[in-house]
Amino acid sequence: MNQGGGFTVNLEGKICTCRRFQLTGIPCGHALAAIWFCNHQSHAYVHLCYKIEAFKKCYEHTVYPVPSPDKWPKTGQNPILPPDANILPGKPKKNRRRDVDEPPLQIAQRQGELVQLCIVANARNLDTGQKNKGGKPPIQNPNKLTLKRRKRREKENVRKARQAAEGGGAGLAEAGGSNT
Ligand SMILES: [Zn+2]
Repeated sequence: MNQGGGFTVNLEGKICTCRRFQLTGIPCGHALAAIWFCNHQSHAYVHLCYKIEAFKKCYEHTVYPVPSPDKWPKTGQNPILPPDANILPGKPKKNRRRDVDEPPLQIAQRQGELVQLCIVANARNLDTGQKNKGGKPPIQNPNKLTLKRRKRREKENVRKARQAAEGGGAGLAEAGGSNT
């Protein structure tokens, strides 16, 4: 019996109060310290199931190959089908179910464990400095048709802005032209 740190090791019983030794069958750090202190071999304290003898004993019998499914005996019964899907009411959840020891998503994001999607969503356009709103990136070398479409969209935006201004919504007048 050796006293080390806050844990007690019993080398004869292969037990440590940190419980790792008896759970894994491999000496924990505390047990190793005790083993080395006694000038013993650490290999001698590893559980027998990890030894090559145990492996050999496990596979000493012949392992026969499994025949293909058409050689399997027929039972004459109906094939077993998967159970019917039970769709519960309500909107299906989209978020991944987080592990019990994982922090909630918002806290994880604050701590810097960012999801790749969030990085993309918060990225800014290098040219304009605007927030990336997703969708297709603007075409770098637009052809005639694209330019035509762009012009038409700009015109449309200007027209909408003008309409909004006339309708009393003066704050919306800036909306035109920025989104090409
Ligand atoms: Zn231990």
